[in-house]
Amino acid sequence: MSGAMDEQTLQFYGGHAQAYAEREVTKHTRLIRFLALLAPGATVLELGCGAGADSAEMLARGFDAHPTDGSPEMASEASRRLGRPVETLLFHDIDKVDAYDGVWANACLLHVPRLELARVLALIWRALKPGGYFYASFKTGAAEGRDSLSRYYNYPTPNSLQAAYAEAGSWNPLSIETGEVRGFDGKSAQMLFVVARKNF
Ligand code: SAM
Repeated sequence: MSGAMDEQTLQFYGGHAQAYAEREVTKHTRLIRFLALLAPGATVLELGCGAGADSAEMLARGFDAHPTDGSPEMASEASRRLGRPVETLLFHDIDKVDAYDGVWANACLLHVPRLELARVLALIWRALKPGGYFYASFKTGAAEGRDSLSRYYNYPTPNSLQAAYAEAGSWNPLSIETGEVRGFDGKSAQMLFVVARKNF
């Protein structure tokens, strides 16, 4: 697959990997809630892992975490932090089948061009074992666009997001919660948090 990435966004992360790694990270209650859905020691693919904080938490809790990021610079920051290799993996290159009990994608699939989102979600669906859980978060909005740092965002609505998931595969249940976070640009953003389970 090609075209499922935004070059400018990846360049931004490549150029800011160290600053991203040094930013203060608050404790991730959504990650803890997600891990509670999984069996102890479950295998979790992390997409867009950034500097690796969430995989560090998963590993510390005994999960078999597989951290990945599309930016080689970010992957090497995460690798330094975690003391293990971190794969450089672009979303559209996910090729595993029925391999993971969970997929964790915090604040990263929001950079997938709108028209490509269902195709990327389908690759994630395929990579999950039946009954596997998938978490992703998105900034919500009316139309796709760039922020003040030139990063691309797909800015879905709950309805458009639900449609993209439905096109990608069969999930049950699928829940979307709303909330607010402060981004790397210092601005607060309205978020959609999605937890979906691949159907058996
Ligand atoms: N998940 C981390 C967190 O919660 O702090 C990092 C989130 S950061 C906002 C987005 C991450 O997605 C960056 O590390 C970036 O390199 C990665 N990314 C952006 N586009 C990508 C793509 N097409 N494939 C894989 N990773 C990508």
